[in-house]
Amino acid sequence: MPFEPLPESTARMLDLATALWLGFIGSCIGSFLNVVAYRMPRGMSVVWKPSHCPRCGHDIRVRDNIPVLGWLLLRGKCRDCGQSISPRYALVEAAMGVAFLLLAYVELFTGGANLPGPLTHASGAWQTVWNPHGPLLRLYAFHGALLSVLMAMALVDQDRQRIPWKIVALAFAVAILYTALWPYCYPERTRNIRLKDWKAPVDALLGAAWGASPWIVVGAASGRGGRRDAWARVRNCLLAGGIVGAYLGLRPSVRIAVAWLIAAALTAAIGARVRRRWSPLLTLWLLTLLHLLCWRAIAKPFSW
Ligand SMILES: [Zn+2]
Repeated sequence: MPFEPLPESTARMLDLATALWLGFIGSCIGSFLNVVAYRMPRGMSVVWKPSHCPRCGHDIRVRDNIPVLGWLLLRGKCRDCGQSISPRYALVEAAMGVAFLLLAYVELFTGGANLPGPLTHASGAWQTVWNPHGPLLRLYAFHGALLSVLMAMALVDQDRQRIPWKIVALAFAVAILYTALWPYCYPERTRNIRLKDWKAPVDALLGAAWGASPWIVVGAASGRGGRRDAWARVRNCLLAGGIVGAYLGLRPSVRIAVAWLIAAALTAAIGARVRRRWSPLLTLWLLTLLHLLCWRAIAKPFSW
């Protein structure tokens, strides 16, 4: 081993500090996704204009822009005019932060023990992050990117907008490039594809196609009111299902879609009002995170 192992207690402290740091990065990404989801479908620039209050137009100060904390310190109100700010912004930041933190512990610090085929015996933040383990860090970033894209799509869908093509094209390009360069980012393969080097990207495309198909049913089942609304919802679901398939592969995306159908059947009892206010893509985000965290446990009994 090229580096000295750390004493146990120091290693655990370093794990916690690193996980909190990664969680903070996740919440900052969440903050950015809030901006993307609001501006992109409205044709506004994502990068060039700082965040501002939609009522009084004052720019949001840097200290008020700290994820989650900023919203809490302002008690959900604009500092200048007192306009209330939706808790949704803070919730998205918190969700992304928690997701990155959990994934750090379950995927990164265990050396990928959550995956169907483990990558390495390295463990703890010291052996994986501070003495960088390339493949593992790339995989973590890959899954972080998937959760980020899905969250952006879910927020757009929650606002009853159409998911912009730019987001979709970028997400697919990243998936294909990533899996072509680093096939291990695809730990669960479809067994009957024999194309050697191109196996992973081909699997990504197949995963996208097959992963998207069950969402026709899902989307149609959750259509709201009018026909145009329903079609927009199906389209959004199809694209999101395809993204999950491209990043995780065929089998995970089918499992997630089946889990979604079960969740939809269970929540149907709660009533149409909840369903109307809660985008199915938010459920998809949650199920994808769960699948990532328990991948190995799920892959064994639910394989074919
Ligand atoms: Zn204001």
